Amino acid sequence: LKNDQLDAWDRAYFLHPSTHLAQHARGESPNRIVAGGSGVFIEDRDGNRLLDAFAGLYCVNVGYGRTEIAEAIAAQARELAYYHAYVGHGTEASITLAKMVLERAPKTMSKVYFGLGGSDANETNIKLVWYYNNILGRPRKKKIISRWRGYHGSGLMTGSLTGLELFHRKFDLPFDTVLHTLAPDYFRRADLALSEAEFVALCAAELEALIEREGADTVAAFIGEPVLGTGGIVPPPAGYWAAIQPILKKHDILFIADEVVTGFGRLGSMFGSAHYDLEPDFITIAKGLTSAYAPLSGSIVSERVWKVLERGTDETGPIGHGWTYSAHPIGAAAGVANLELIDRLGLVRNAAETGAYLRKAVVEALGRHPNVGDIRGEGMLCAVEFVETRDGRRFFDPARKIGPQVAAALLRRGVIGRAMPQGDILGFAPPLCLSRAEAERIAEATADAVAEVLGNG
Ligand code: PLP
Repeated sequence: LKNDQLDAWDRAYFLHPSTHLAQHARGESPNRIVAGGSGVFIEDRDGNRLLDAFAGLYCVNVGYGRTEIAEAIAAQARELAYYHAYVGHGTEASITLAKMVLERAPKTMSKVYFGLGGSDANETNIKLVWYYNNILGRPRKKKIISRWRGYHGSGLMTGSLTGLELFHRKFDLPFDTVLHTLAPDYFRRADLALSEAEFVALCAAELEALIEREGADTVAAFIGEPVLGTGGIVPPPAGYWAAIQPILKKHDILFIADEVVTGFGRLGSMFGSAHYDLEPDFITIAKGLTSAYAPLSGSIVSERVWKVLERGTDETGPIGHGWTYSAHPIGAAAGVANLELIDRLGLVRNAAETGAYLRKAVVEALGRHPNVGDIRGEGMLCAVEFVETRDGRRFFDPARKIGPQVAAALLRRGVIGRAMPQGDILGFAPPLCLSRAEAERIAEATADAVAEVLGNG
């Protein structure tokens, strides 16, 4: 098929995620037909080879073109493409993967419930939280606290949890059972005079005040990403999790660590929970579980929660929750091959080392630019936040779209970064196999792109 033909069919038939309706009507959405990939590069049908410094949507952890995973998928498809995983049935791939996930997760975790994507895994978490409280005879303990700028999916419940206004607008969300608290973003603190420790104390105090206002007997769980991802790639300020976790424990509120981005190596540790000494009751996994070679997600349940769920009686009956494709054998086969590859290639360690090298290179290239307010990250995550002036930290008028302009200028230089949806923030989350030379190329191209949009300062 010719590109022109595909373009015409695309416009005629394909409603893409996140379509901007007015831009679509004006015919402004250029179409890139992605045709191949290898390592950290993708190729399109127009012959462009682009360094994908966002690993798709922070998911292709092992990089593109891994034949080991392709072969595992093909072998599974030939042997048995599908059978359901409802109770009483399993496949070798799904059972093996469950064991491999638990071997890598914190020791306090006990079982994994497989789904397809991060959003549905968070739906599973919430339903299991409610089930848990029902078994304990406290059905009123139902509300879920999330953070502004947290991202947990785009379904109805998970879109409610997501603390980005775009995901609520025109959908009558968030649901009443969802409450939001302060984002742990020290750079964007309202009061510039606050020290980092004072800001952490403020986050903790706001959370506790919210719980007390609502009544702890109505609050079931708190959900948070170890490092805020889509909300701006923001590592927590020092001491944040150490301040938050005791408040949750004190009020008997379950903790869901959403590790859809941070799971399987991205922070330079296998899990963000280990990285930050978290003791979650649930861990959400997706993306890096298969490096996106096939859709698969999971809700990992702690032993503490399992001990309660296990008390279900004949009257409780089966858990009314499941999908046709839960634990799909092809996704599971991809997962097994992917986790083996992450170990064999030492990608968790590379995420720590080359991730630190990338940030250093970006700081060297851009750290003195007057419009660069912050360069931050952890492991193989990095963000550059732009400001109109550093003094007094004045942000650009969002209408100027500085972040998207820099991302577009970077793309013209053959590197894919992501203009994060809130604020003028350029995000990087490359495959974990990034090399030092590729990290330098990202930093140099970013400096050129910033100079094109904002001058040299
Ligand atoms: N949770 C986090 C932290 C995410 O970043 C995402 C997606 O980016 C999700 C959940 C939702 O995952 P999915 O898009 O696979 O439904």
